[in-house]
Amino acid sequence: MKDLKLAAARPDGTRTVVDVLGVRVGEGLVVIAGPCSVESEEQTVRTAIAVKEAGAQMLRGGAFKPRTSPYAFQGMGLKGLKILDKAKRETGLPIVTEVIDTRDVSWVGEYADVLQIGARNMQNFSLLREVGKSGKPILLKRGMHSTVEEWLNCAEYILAEGNDKVILCERGIRTFETYTRNTLDLSAVQAVRRESHLPVLVDPSHGTGIRSMVDPMSLAALVAGADGLEIEVHVCPESALSDKDQQLTPAQFSRLMERLRRLEAFMEELGPADPDMASGGAAASSPGGGSDGAGRGATGGGKSGEPGSR
Ligand code: PEP
Ligand code: MN
Repeated sequence: MKDLKLAAARPDGTRTVVDVLGVRVGEGLVVIAGPCSVESEEQTVRTAIAVKEAGAQMLRGGAFKPRTSPYAFQGMGLKGLKILDKAKRETGLPIVTEVIDTRDVSWVGEYADVLQIGARNMQNFSLLREVGKSGKPILLKRGMHSTVEEWLNCAEYILAEGNDKVILCERGIRTFETYTRNTLDLSAVQAVRRESHLPVLVDPSHGTGIRSMVDPMSLAALVAGADGLEIEVHVCPESALSDKDQQLTPAQFSRLMERLRRLEAFMEELGPADPDMASGGAAASSPGGGSDGAGRGATGGGKSGEPGSR
């Protein structure tokens, strides 16, 4: 990918770890969980306590919701951020929340530990520059119509502002398939690991839009090499003001976390894939590049001319 200067995989295969108040993204599985939207203090704090108990390392929750319809619930704004702050004080979980407007970046950044750039804003270049200048950790979701190359170029915009704390998140793309809300592109995880040093998460909630698919696609994401997951959890999904069909109950999330831990242990036992099956680039042959010790690493540096290395 010729235009990548700062986001491209490093010759020595080392990968970036983004530290968020001691949570190290890119070093073992990190799970971000919480409601689609902040709806009330009770809903958010109860969800936060439940996901923390189940083992989530960060809390998500939208205070600014980019909705398809202008008449749909748009989020609680500042009130929502204050609720997230309360949930953080109760649980100690760092906060991941979306910012949708350049004018809001600095004050939303006072509440957020990670600023999320949503799929709809992936190529909002002024917003990317602004969050780059903020210096905060950024969770950059893949645009629903975007190629991996376009996505990594958006990461480049943030990095070019001197902010090296970029976490990528695959959340599904639009294809001809309409059965699922989006088509979760798990091969993009391996593409990112070949082409970039940045950590990459998977969001199986928006990626499928279907609650019963969140568990299997979370496990699949771990096997595919994801550094973590972003999962929607709500104390009472049927009453959620947004995305009610895809949010897990705390009990479902807790069971999923247990299964993820067991899968992680199994993958440790399994070991990494044969490095020769990776493309033979630097990442495949250097420590820390081809494998992260959890068997999740079958990556290579991506030689030019190979598929995915355009
Ligand atoms: C979200 O995570 O709250 C969200 C709106 O996701 P996306 O931007 O991926 O649609
Ligand atoms: Mn949602």
